[in-house]
Amino acid sequence: RLKEGRALVQDVWSIFNAANLPSDCINLGQGYMNFGPPQWVTEAAEEALKAVAPNHYSHPKGRIRLREAINNFYGPQFNRNLDVESEILVTSGANEGQYAVFTAFLEQGDEVIMFEPFFDQYLPSVTFNGGKPIYVPLHPPPESVKKPTSDDWTIDINELRRAITSRTKMIIVNTPHNPVGKVFRKEELEQIALLAEEFNLLVMADEVYDCLVFDGKEHVRIANLPGMWDRTVTVLSAGKAFAATGWRVGWLIGPKSIIQPTLAATTRIVFCTNSPLQEAAAAGLEQVKERKFFEKQREEYNERRAILTEAFDKLGLKYILPEGSYFVLLDVSKVKFPEDYPFPPSVVGRGRDFRAGWFIAMEIGVSSIPVSEFYCEEHATIGEAYARFAFCKDTDTLKRAAERLQKLK
Ligand code: GLN
Repeated sequence: RLKEGRALVQDVWSIFNAANLPSDCINLGQGYMNFGPPQWVTEAAEEALKAVAPNHYSHPKGRIRLREAINNFYGPQFNRNLDVESEILVTSGANEGQYAVFTAFLEQGDEVIMFEPFFDQYLPSVTFNGGKPIYVPLHPPPESVKKPTSDDWTIDINELRRAITSRTKMIIVNTPHNPVGKVFRKEELEQIALLAEEFNLLVMADEVYDCLVFDGKEHVRIANLPGMWDRTVTVLSAGKAFAATGWRVGWLIGPKSIIQPTLAATTRIVFCTNSPLQEAAAAGLEQVKERKFFEKQREEYNERRAILTEAFDKLGLKYILPEGSYFVLLDVSKVKFPEDYPFPPSVVGRGRDFRAGWFIAMEIGVSSIPVSEFYCEEHATIGEAYARFAFCKDTDTLKRAAERLQKLK
């Protein structure tokens, strides 16, 4: 018997999956690339497969080469020499890392605060571990803002304060934010940090898009704010860093008091993360500095973002210019479609954005993700104005998508 509730209703990624759409539909839906990791990284994976040890279990903490590479690359960003034995944990993607933190820390009925919209996976990950999600709004830009950016989505710190109860265990802070693209300002993070201290809360800093920040905006790690290291676990991902979303390799960085219980949980969930690709991720991190890889990658994404946003400008539809991540929210509330269009059952019962997104995918040939999925059921209508388009695709593909989207005029 299936448990009740939204968590086990068909997820948006399965509905708007390329497999359900025409084969020539350009997939700007689920956020994965149509190109692979750089060659020097895939070569390291091939090498690892040829050796014996990396074909077998790793230590549940992760392979030592990767943990050392993580310390060398991220240590300076956290202003500390990370203890590779107790302050780093390799996980089977960021999803599993987060799940393991919830498994380790949530007691039945514990509340986890998240800003809404939120990456949809948080909801089941919290509830499956007995927690209760509590939503605090990220307020959309007012109508009067003609060319909104992700920075126009704002938090009201008093709303966050009011959401905290004696059962609150944790706050999730996702920056750069999926789906909005917001890069939280230092002042916002400072306000959140003060509340976390006042009420003795853990902070899960989901920073998987940390290498994709544009327009000279600074990515601030909440773990680095005064007093925050001891209560913060930062979640990172090889998938985003190296265009390898199918690897399912990620890592957590935090104090021993968080990493150690999470290690115990992850050992019981997956035992360890796949070994050969940990070696490849290590090779990746070892070389990024010398190759200026993230700097170049950011430039490429900046161009990709421009192709999409210029297409939306030409169309005259409002969108949110993201300062981080690889997603653009397009206002589809004015996109018309026939209500008697043959929508599949999985789309019919959902928000208007599901129908708009489906229609655009079928008739224009470009898929996206409906944004009401990133809201709880009660607040879903707020998200119905938007479709999320991913620009983690090569420029030719984005140009073709841009051309097709002009038919929305
Ligand atoms: N993070 C990716 C996205 O938002 C993939 C989602 C997922 O894990 N299914 O598109």
